[in-house]
Amino acid sequence: MKNLIVFGAPGAGKGTQSARIVHNHQLVHLSTGELFREALKNQTPVGMEAKAYLDKGLLVPDEVVVQMIREALHAHANAPGFIFDGFPRTKAQAAALDKLLEDIKAPITHVILLEVPDEELKERLKKRAEISARSDDANPNIIEKRIEVYKAETYPLRDYYAEHGKLFVVNGVGKEDEIAQKIQAIIA
Ligand code: AMP
Repeated sequence: MKNLIVFGAPGAGKGTQSARIVHNHQLVHLSTGELFREALKNQTPVGMEAKAYLDKGLLVPDEVVVQMIREALHAHANAPGFIFDGFPRTKAQAAALDKLLEDIKAPITHVILLEVPDEELKERLKKRAEISARSDDANPNIIEKRIEVYKAETYPLRDYYAEHGKLFVVNGVGKEDEIAQKIQAIIA
């Protein structure tokens, strides 16, 4: 069983690369950002609660995110494995995920960190804003905030996973195909 985390700053290519891995390995793709956007569209209680955070580029509280992941894991009890995209984003989330996966005896196997310089991230998000309906991509202040939050809260997870021997750092700049090949070589 493979359980992967695709980890990186906003705009690093997590969604794009996750979609490719899912396609090649039949894993269940759990993107917390997508789940929140879906919940928001459907005006569910979780969506309404998350809205203020998404609008400001801040992290939704850990309990809300972890509960959503808990439910998703139960909903896919027979999955051959998962790819976590945009989760975990804090140490508390990482600890909660370890615990949830311990319960189903399927630990994280690989953490792929896509590294992309800040300037390139900002360029990519600006371009994405032109083609996506994401309001958090359209505002440069919110982009700055999301990158800042990533550095403060999420990037430190690098050490956590490195200590557990699960971290694989991939240069996220270059052709999508080449990056996908590098990831494929790691998880094959
Ligand atoms: P993303 O699509 O991964 O860039 O996420 C969009 C927004 O959803 C983020 O800016 C956060 O407000 C929220 N979000 C997504 N995943 C998480 C998470 N694991 N923890 C807290 N907030 C999250």
